Amino acid sequence: MKDYLQLQGVRKMFGNSCVLDDVDLEIREGELVTLLGPSGCGKSTLLRCIAGLTELDGGRIVLENKDLAKLPPRNREVGMVFQSYALFPNLSVSQNIEYGMKMRGLSKAARRNRCEELLAMVDLEAKRDDYPQSLSGGQQQRVALARSLAVQPKVLLLDEPLSALDAKIRKNLRTEIRDIQKRLNMTTVFVTHDQEEALILSDRICIMNGGRIVQDGSPEGLYTSPRTEFVARFMGSYNVLTRSEVMALFRGVESASESFAIRPEAVSLLLEGEGSLDVADGKVLVSGTIHSVSVLGNIIRYTVNTAGILLTVDSLNDGRFLRIGEQDKITLVLDPSQLLHLEREGA
Ligand code: ADP
Ligand code: MG
Repeated sequence: MKDYLQLQGVRKMFGNSCVLDDVDLEIREGELVTLLGPSGCGKSTLLRCIAGLTELDGGRIVLENKDLAKLPPRNREVGMVFQSYALFPNLSVSQNIEYGMKMRGLSKAARRNRCEELLAMVDLEAKRDDYPQSLSGGQQQRVALARSLAVQPKVLLLDEPLSALDAKIRKNLRTEIRDIQKRLNMTTVFVTHDQEEALILSDRICIMNGGRIVQDGSPEGLYTSPRTEFVARFMGSYNVLTRSEVMALFRGVESASESFAIRPEAVSLLLEGEGSLDVADGKVLVSGTIHSVSVLGNIIRYTVNTAGILLTVDSLNDGRFLRIGEQDKITLVLDPSQLLHLEREGA
């Protein structure tokens, strides 16, 4: 597959602060790429640059070999959905969906047909004559999605479209969005600050920090191989350890790294008196004290104090651990092969 949407050295300044710092990104046709990063890192600004709502200070944006620089937003063939839905309150659901088509001069019959198609796709046929304020948040966002798809954009931009919704609706709608995106083979840039959402939805994730893409890769790739401390912390609950902490826990390490990470589920616990069948292949045993226990459903998350270091350990909630409480003495089984060697930020 060829690159369809290309961002080349995109720069944006607001006053003296550089909000997008030479961003390069290539997206293939039909791909769903997520921009994931903390608030203020430049995600919305990047989407707005693609949509033409914000002017670039440098670089190029190319869609299907066409430089977008000279095209105003309405000629870019880009659809956008915002966290706040941004529907026209004085227009009904079908009028909202038909709005863009009307602006482009499509006939009434063509608009009607396309609108019915979209209403069916987002499962809102019964609401076609209702007004936005009578709809739930999830329904309003489905109208916004239908409206953005009505003019058959080449690229769909979604700016935290699920962030204002309740947890249950959020989960349903993210599945619906992904299904529709796949069905239409719609090239999509999805923005979120929620790593779980990014992992579930994306073909590819770009982690952003301070106006730059600091790592990009498949969901599995980013989850299992964060390159820097920032990504390790952002992608989940990695234990990030300094060199001296690793020396203390693992009794040695052959690496020039200054910073390391190990996933909570890569550490296991042995209760007092339990055998160590598990222990082979250079694994290391260290004793520790349970500091806290929290039940996350099918996972139990412990924090364990060992030699003054607080480690997070995730175990399956299989009943065996019902017997563990705060201050209990346990043994940790550490596997040096699970230890990731992190690069310095910006390296
Ligand atoms: P995100 O969507 O990742 O939370 P934004 O792209 O909205 O981040 O903002 C990135 C940075 O740019 C923030 O520091 C924000 O305050 C700043 N910013 C965004 N829009 C403007 C603007 N119109 N004028 C000045 N600063 C802005
Ligand atoms: Mg934003």
